[in-house]
Amino acid sequence: MSSLTRQKIEALSGFRSDRFLTTSFYLNTDKGRLVRKEIQVAAKNLLTGARARLERLELDKDKKASLGADLDMLQDYCARNMTDNAHGLAVFSCRGEKFWEEVHLPHPPRNRLLFDQNPYIRPLSQILGRFHNICVFLVGRTNAKWFSVHMDKMTHLDSLACELPTKDKDGDFDGTSVRRLERHVESHVHEHYKKASQLTFDLFKKEKFDWLFLGCEDHFYSDLETFLHSYLRDRLKGRIKAKPSDPEDKILKEALALEAAINLAAEEEDVRRFAAELEKGGRAVSGIKETLRGVNQLEIQHLLVMHNFSAPGTMCPKCRFLYLEETVCPACQIATRPVADVVDEAIEATFKQHAAVRHVQPPSRLDHYGKIGAILRFKA
Ligand SMILES: [Zn+2]
Repeated sequence: MSSLTRQKIEALSGFRSDRFLTTSFYLNTDKGRLVRKEIQVAAKNLLTGARARLERLELDKDKKASLGADLDMLQDYCARNMTDNAHGLAVFSCRGEKFWEEVHLPHPPRNRLLFDQNPYIRPLSQILGRFHNICVFLVGRTNAKWFSVHMDKMTHLDSLACELPTKDKDGDFDGTSVRRLERHVESHVHEHYKKASQLTFDLFKKEKFDWLFLGCEDHFYSDLETFLHSYLRDRLKGRIKAKPSDPEDKILKEALALEAAINLAAEEEDVRRFAAELEKGGRAVSGIKETLRGVNQLEIQHLLVMHNFSAPGTMCPKCRFLYLEETVCPACQIATRPVADVVDEAIEATFKQHAAVRHVQPPSRLDHYGKIGAILRFKA
């Protein structure tokens, strides 16, 4: 079982079979909200519904047998493997090609089971777009703590404490030595920041975080910023109101709120950039038809799609071009095959082209541009 990464999605997007269909299975296994029995009942219902659908499908014998075998394997799998702690499960199977992939999901998906030309990766892409690998670095005058936050979960990484020099009991109290002590203390604090900043950099090299969130008091901030390695300053995404001694649930709550705010701002910025490009007649397209054309021509730089938008379509089995309605591929002059959600196919193709995908939550201006669009590499 593997976890969710961009590489995983690219690999799944690369799978194809000319002879068989693929089954995609998504299950919410969030034990925080569901008991084991409920999860098993949900899995059973999905499989029962899928068997009934498969009965009615008009497909050749081999295709049907392969899908039937997928369902048997899934049933067997669900009976054995419902004990891990992931929030969700995704399984992709194409028995005819002996293809089987399981992915742990850090966020519960909507329960669903689909038969299609290839793996349905859209929910994976949505989860991946929302969550980042975050390092939370909290620092005070004499202490520091580090946590990693990924997909709603927080893990303590490291702590640091330093002792400040104190007045000697028998020491004198004349003005000179008080000032000397103050300078001495300040140089210790200075050293502490430096050490903590270096430790943050070491953690980054090891854990490969995307973002850094910093928690410290206002008057330390500018000092601290100068100690951070430029690599860290580039990844510093914001500050949270938390200190090393705060309870972990408060720290996590602050970190998740900042992540959500950054995501929303980035979404709005992408839509704004897209709309501006479109309105000046620049390198952007809107609506499903034009977007599919951009995907087919390998022109996509940044795909934007409303979270809830999907549409059936067709795909050419030879050149893999995507269409809304064409029953014959204009390029190859052969019959296309239906796909359940052509938006998912467009997302897969965009992943394969190593371009960016942005899932946009409603309400958004993107709604008025046909719910889907793209910034292109070149002028349309
Ligand atoms: Zn074609």
